[in-house]
Amino acid sequence: MSEKSRVLLDLDTGIDDALALAYVLGSPEAELVGVVCSYGNVTVGTAARNTRFLLELLGRPDIPVYLGADRPLRASTPFEPPAGVVRIHGADGLGNVGLLDRPCNTPARGADLTRLAGVLYGREFYYVPTGPLTNLARALDALPGSVGELPRVTFMGGALVVPGNVAPCAEANVHNDPEAADAVLRSGLRTRMVGLDVTHQVVLTREETVAWRELGTPAARLFADMTDHYIGIYEKNNPHMGGCALHDPLAVAAALDPTLVTCLPANLRVDIEGPTRGRTVCDPDRLRDAEKDCEVALAVDAPRFLEEFRTRVRRALGARA
Ligand code: CA
Repeated sequence: MSEKSRVLLDLDTGIDDALALAYVLGSPEAELVGVVCSYGNVTVGTAARNTRFLLELLGRPDIPVYLGADRPLRASTPFEPPAGVVRIHGADGLGNVGLLDRPCNTPARGADLTRLAGVLYGREFYYVPTGPLTNLARALDALPGSVGELPRVTFMGGALVVPGNVAPCAEANVHNDPEAADAVLRSGLRTRMVGLDVTHQVVLTREETVAWRELGTPAARLFADMTDHYIGIYEKNNPHMGGCALHDPLAVAAALDPTLVTCLPANLRVDIEGPTRGRTVCDPDRLRDAEKDCEVALAVDAPRFLEEFRTRVRRALGARA
């Protein structure tokens, strides 16, 4: 058997991050080597608690969880999710499944970002951030070598040819730390952007959560409750979609199998000033450069991805009685 692909996730563990985690754990070709936590859907402490809880539930308490940044690069105080985000992901970040009485201060290893950069450097590694890019920006800052030599990083975030979701031009992960996203996109690092251009094309319906309940495992029941909460929010806010968008799972899927998406090569930057703050846009200064750092996913084989999602997440949820 060929060697497995090593995956390091960077999650702000809300509901679709949880689905991305299950996707990786249900992927036979992937070995999850750790989860770095971030703020965004929740505080970084809640993200770490949720990640540990989910790893235990999915039978992998051995996987290390690291505490990453608690705030955007330029913020002076730790990030607290706004009320609108709390409504989407629930007060516990996982659809109000009853985690509020679990402490957030469970020991997690502090993310030694210099070490993280060292681990990333020169190794074949799938590093997949599905929250703000603060941890990655800090790691690149501490990098011992050229970022151009790093493996391509697939991230969930941004919107190139569709509107934003938290502002007319801005997607939530980029909007949470535009300076970090801009630093990453202009660093010379090779990236693959899986943003709203494609994630709004992959929709999960209640048909799947019904199937999860039939699996009968504690993990499957919890994931069904959590995801039904998420679908319920979409039914109110985006009734035309017919279900919830699978933002973060599509990013991990495209990292493991880039043929799921079709990409435009481009050099991007992020607007950090004015009313378009948080917009991902082609960088006018590098528009004519022959080399393009970023592959921007603009099309997705939605039926094939959804089939992979069903198979892999069911495998993860059914793996433990
Ligand atoms: Ca996320």
